[in-house]
Amino acid sequence: MHDDTKLTHAGREHGDERRHHGVVNTPVYHASTVTYPSMAAMKASQATPDHGVFYGRMGTPTTFAFQDAMAALEGGGGKTLAVPSGLAACTTALLATCKAGDHALIVDTVYAPVRRFCEGMLKDLGVTVTYFAPHADIRPLLQPNTKAVYLEAPGSMTFEMQDVPALAKIVRAHGAITMIDNTWATPLYFKPLAHGVDISIHSVTKYIGGHSDLLMGTVTAAEPVFTRLRETAWNLGLYVSPDDCYLALRGLRTLSARMARHQQTGLRLANWLRSRPSVQRVIYPALPGDPGHLLWQRDFTGAPGLFAFVLQPGPDAALAAMLDHMKLFALGYSWGGFESLIVPFTPGYSRSATQWTETGALVRISAGLEDAGDLIADLEAGLARFTGALAGAPATAQPRR
Ligand SMILES: *Cc1c(COP(=O)(O)O)cnc(C)c1O
Repeated sequence: MHDDTKLTHAGREHGDERRHHGVVNTPVYHASTVTYPSMAAMKASQATPDHGVFYGRMGTPTTFAFQDAMAALEGGGGKTLAVPSGLAACTTALLATCKAGDHALIVDTVYAPVRRFCEGMLKDLGVTVTYFAPHADIRPLLQPNTKAVYLEAPGSMTFEMQDVPALAKIVRAHGAITMIDNTWATPLYFKPLAHGVDISIHSVTKYIGGHSDLLMGTVTAAEPVFTRLRETAWNLGLYVSPDDCYLALRGLRTLSARMARHQQTGLRLANWLRSRPSVQRVIYPALPGDPGHLLWQRDFTGAPGLFAFVLQPGPDAALAAMLDHMKLFALGYSWGGFESLIVPFTPGYSRSATQWTETGALVRISAGLEDAGDLIADLEAGLARFTGALAGAPATAQPRR
């Protein structure tokens, strides 16, 4: 079955099951306690942790429907567990695979809050951590006690690609577990499990939710790793509300249609920005000529509308002249919604194995579902304000052609 068909049919009742009376969407089951008609039924519900409705915290049919649909999309024989946020998915994966005395290798371009977790809680638990450059040969960095290798491709803020299958192969030969934050590509455009990765991590908050109204994460793995993930989440008491699972599954249904448009608009904006004199560099693996383009082309089947560009150097006031007055692009962090966002970053604070040497401001774009021409006009006016402020000219200067 192709992904588009899975997106429509996975996580729904089939044929004549009629558990939900034939309604198209799995209803929202609110539950704390679950009652049983008999001791035998009580026991049976605990014997099937993937779908047994046993206790509200472990999920209801709404949770299972979303998890099943995600697992179908991720493929590779994996099962999916929903957790309260994308960050919880990242930390659950690390907590499930590392214990006191272990060592973890983390890509330097990791989502910044994950680095904070590693520097804080993970180290406090007695796990040592080494960061590596996205393209580093990790073989010399692997130690006998290395248990987890954490990838993110492309990297947060700066979009460096990684050779995921090659890294996963090395890690597996070492007997350690590879995990990847796959949020950028979504399970539609990259399949970690099929590329030798053990755990696929998602912030559902982004494209899967897709409507800027929920926070959630998922971890997906085949057995026996999946059971470790579930044990960890259960022990921590992680819980996802059925309302959010319902919204996440509703978002998932239209993921393919939305992603195609995000990609199309992303490429159009990126190509346009690349032609602007005030833009030094566009960073987007989907763009031919990007340092990560060949890896992206080899391993991924598409790209979202999330990318960055580096402006010509200038004072913060010039950057603010641009960003404070955008008409369609809102200043905001959590991307992947239907609306376009723009946000400046200074990635240097969250790097230790690599250096960020750009002197111009790094600006990230999340291309939404608006008309691409309208978005370009907004960017054009913004860049004109930027160059106007650079020249000390009034902020209403005409666009430079
Ligand atoms: C946003 C994000 C997360 C965290 O997701 P939340 O749901 O906001 O906790 C993790 N990884 C990446 C790459 C992200 O962009």
